[in-house]
Amino acid sequence: MHLQAPPAPAVNQPKSSPPSSVAAKAIEVNCPACGERTLYSPANAFRPFCSARCQGHDFGAWANEGYRVPTKPSSEEPEP
Ligand SMILES: [Zn+2]
Repeated sequence: MHLQAPPAPAVNQPKSSPPSSVAAKAIEVNCPACGERTLYSPANAFRPFCSARCQGHDFGAWANEGYRVPTKPSSEEPEP
């Protein structure tokens, strides 16, 4: 009876993925606010916007829209 130790699994895979794979994941999109080409990737915290300014601008416009809605003081509202 001869026990033969199994061969160690060949580890030929690179320890770190090549940067090319990261670049392949990045997608270029147009910023909805300014239309500039921006990177749609986890590295871009403001995606799909290009910057915090554009992201905030869009949100601000949306918020202003809501604030601009003329709210007539309803007389039907029950006063405490
Ligand atoms: Zn932008």
